[in-house]
Amino acid sequence: MNNHVTVLEIDGKALEHNLHYFKNKLHQKTKVLAVVKAFGYGSDGVQVASFLSDKVNYFAVAYAHEGEALRVADISTPILVLHPQIQNFDQIVSNQLEPSIYNLKTLTAFLAYAKDKELITYPIHLKFNTGLNRLGISKEEIPSIMGSIRKSKHVKIKSILSHLAASEDLNEQDFTLYQINNFKQIIHEVFGYLNYTPMAHLLNTSGVINYPEAQFDMVRIGIGLYGFGNDKTETSHLKNSHILKSTISQTHFVKKGETVGYNRAFVAKKIQKLQRFLLVMQMACQEN
Ligand SMILES: *Cc1c(COP(=O)(O)O)cnc(C)c1O
Repeated sequence: MNNHVTVLEIDGKALEHNLHYFKNKLHQKTKVLAVVKAFGYGSDGVQVASFLSDKVNYFAVAYAHEGEALRVADISTPILVLHPQIQNFDQIVSNQLEPSIYNLKTLTAFLAYAKDKELITYPIHLKFNTGLNRLGISKEEIPSIMGSIRKSKHVKIKSILSHLAASEDLNEQDFTLYQINNFKQIIHEVFGYLNYTPMAHLLNTSGVINYPEAQFDMVRIGIGLYGFGNDKTETSHLKNSHILKSTISQTHFVKKGETVGYNRAFVAKKIQKLQRFLLVMQMACQEN
């Protein structure tokens, strides 16, 4: 505890409850990756991961430095780095982070790096573009990508993945089914180049809710862990994991025409509005 009057409380029991809610939708053998990127969705990725480290199979972060922070906090769970940068390879390898390779350029650079450092079967993940058009290797690139990977003893493909564009939007069901089918074809083609079988994973939170049949070997749950489902019903089964607590420093009663703040940004127009303004402040106060 610090001595600040404003604190963001992270409720480990709520995170665990939410994790179990999603686990119950999955086959027992399906692995769970908890997404703690972007500072744990705007909070504290290290804290969130500390609560979950012995309860999930994997973590995902966006950048290498986020993964390093988890290692510094003694978290030993495997960590996938979704957006590895070539200049971060040292940080990635020295912290045993696993890069999600999303294009030929990053692959070529990592293969050269792994050879130079004499790494043996270093775990990498291959991310394919199945329609989101954000990050990902295209299907057409499979022969050239797999050709170089197969020749290298320095890396080993631990998983292949893709990301859905509209898993929460049932109006886009046709597109999502197209992505799932596309991913299946990619898996089939990639596996044809290998004498071992990497994991496959595609679903995010709303994917788990709407397309559990596409759970493959693992799912990647982010927003759901933090207490948000696709709709009110789904969310009602989840617990709020983060509570911001603060205290009101001072309350002013302002009259009509008086103003509040820099550049007089708020002008009290009428009593009613004024009361509502105060009410918002009082509600925040009651949280404490
Ligand atoms: C952010 C992210 C997730 C998690 O998505 P949620 O909708 O928050 O569950 C999963 N996979 C990838 C690749 C992501 O970038």
